[in-house]
Amino acid sequence: MARSRSGTRGRRGPRKPPRRDGAFTASSVQTADPRERGAVELPPTITVKELAELFGVNPADVIRELIKSGIFATINQLIDRDTAALVASELGYEVAEPQAALAGESGDDGEDGTPSEATKEELFTEDDDANLVSRAPIVTVMGHVDHGKTSLLDAIRSTTVAAGERGGITQHIGASEVTKDGRRVVFLDTPGHEAFTAMRARGAKVTDIAIVVVAADDGVMPQTLEAISHAKAAKVPIIIAMNKMDKPDANPDRVKTELTEAGVVVEEYGGDTPLVPVSAKSRLGLDDLVDMVLLVADLQDLKANPKRSAIGTIVEARMDRTRGAVATALVQTGTLRVGDVIVVGETYGRVRALENDRGKRIPKAGPATAAVVLGLSEVPEAGDILRVVADEKEARTMVEARHAQLAAKGGEGSGRATLEDLYKQIQAGQAKELRIILKADVSGSLGAITHALGQLATDEVKINILHEGAGEITDNDILLASASNAIVVGFSTKITDTARRAAETEKVDVRMYDIIYQLTDDIEKALGGLLEPELVEVVEGRAEVRKLIKVGKTTVIAGSYVTDGRMVKGGARVWRGGKIVATDRIESLRRFRDDVREVAQGFECGIGLAGFHDLEEGDIIECFTTQSVSRSLTN
Ligand code: GDP
Repeated sequence: MARSRSGTRGRRGPRKPPRRDGAFTASSVQTADPRERGAVELPPTITVKELAELFGVNPADVIRELIKSGIFATINQLIDRDTAALVASELGYEVAEPQAALAGESGDDGEDGTPSEATKEELFTEDDDANLVSRAPIVTVMGHVDHGKTSLLDAIRSTTVAAGERGGITQHIGASEVTKDGRRVVFLDTPGHEAFTAMRARGAKVTDIAIVVVAADDGVMPQTLEAISHAKAAKVPIIIAMNKMDKPDANPDRVKTELTEAGVVVEEYGGDTPLVPVSAKSRLGLDDLVDMVLLVADLQDLKANPKRSAIGTIVEARMDRTRGAVATALVQTGTLRVGDVIVVGETYGRVRALENDRGKRIPKAGPATAAVVLGLSEVPEAGDILRVVADEKEARTMVEARHAQLAAKGGEGSGRATLEDLYKQIQAGQAKELRIILKADVSGSLGAITHALGQLATDEVKINILHEGAGEITDNDILLASASNAIVVGFSTKITDTARRAAETEKVDVRMYDIIYQLTDDIEKALGGLLEPELVEVVEGRAEVRKLIKVGKTTVIAGSYVTDGRMVKGGARVWRGGKIVATDRIESLRRFRDDVREVAQGFECGIGLAGFHDLEEGDIIECFTTQSVSRSLTN
């Protein structure tokens, strides 16, 4: 993993002695408003508190700015000059020397990382080489429904229990451990790429290895493809578990060929993806699978520093009537101890007790260990990051800053990838690729579109299609876009209502096209900075045709029920069986006998289209307006 500059910012932890060169002291300059004195010089390292004093601002403001960059610093933490300069400029202060460094750095976020990707990783990047030790791999099982994810997890777990390596009854806490030849493997208990990407969208990077389960009798299915895309987008290595090998109609060759077609070439076919034939039912190959996990883990050289204060991720949480908030934290680095003050997402507390997966109290939990944490005042969410801080005061400051940050985020764009902003991001060196999730009505169009998009790549910007698939745009697509800072492109397809809402909350740029040329044209313009806000189409609502009323010879009025949004006069599309059968205009819109301007969701109305009169009951009329803002659905 490329370690970016920003990836190591902010955690030049207190272990390193502060280096002070030059005549700087915080107190010597804090009297005048630096904004009036012009540029300020910064020392190579400075604590958050000193920086706040230097600029005469509240330390919480500094911490808030740091959080914006994904750095969860404490008040006494040393940050380096580059980081301090960034904060200073965000706070409106000019910094003398680091200007050049800043300009040169913005594009330095690793191979293809946008700033947000890099900073998400930064939390888990170790910087104290001397104390690094190997840690157990953390594995997520993914794959198509019914291919055997749950069965496989159960089978793997019960193997070790059966082997009598550990006593007691294992409880479900969100993650479980398996030990083989004295080495541990941690499995996340919620299988599926949805959970995996939902965590990633919250900034958590938990999984080291993805096991993609493919049933040997069923082959590669749509969710197999999704799982592969989600794992690849997260740059998590994949192991294929070819399950149900006990079945007479198991067809391994077909699976391998289909995987190759999906861009996953297994080792036997000359690629680098390991494949292990297994059967959760007859317990075939389970040892081999765990061995393969350990082998892939070895290649990754997973390390953590048990001596530092813990950072982890919440994998599960609930409210217990007698014990209060109960959260399972997967410690990723450092050691979590009873008595530690922790900040978790937007809440904090002191660790009252830790328990393992057999309900036994434990005094501490080291790297790659799941532990039930008691003592939080509120129930955190899965994917929230847990961090040990010095004391409650610091925890409070951090949580307040986090709230302020969330409040601020509500108002503005959150730095998400949008086509309009792409050029700006390219110019600023922040974007080196345009990530796209592509959905089309039929798989036949996908190839043509990917090809056309591929032609648009420039020296500066790659086009990276993170996932392509046939069908509607779903929540999973939005989730993946959100987690990967991608845009979603729909071609002759629809977006589900929940996905539309998710896109709005997650501020994901979703664009719908019916003509390849318009799509490529937009992206070409975006790459060249020429994509002006233009006349765009906004879907206002949908109505289901319930009854057809003939008026005159040809004209038909559709007695309809507004299923979502609102119906207004203007552009309209008629959907039938998931396909568009006409694009037209709503010419008349009536409630009873009255001409109305709009009809809200839950009401009936009469709709007259301008040209299309071959409506059928059950058709969906989708109305849209054109607005001069952005093509994005989410603006
Ligand atoms: P999931 O939806 O991917 O979690 O799949 P499940 O673990 O729920 O399994 C779906 C079905 O496949 C269940 O009826 C299982 O009993 C069955 N199944 C799972 N693994 C195997 C296997 O290795 N062989 C056979 N024959 N059936 C299996």
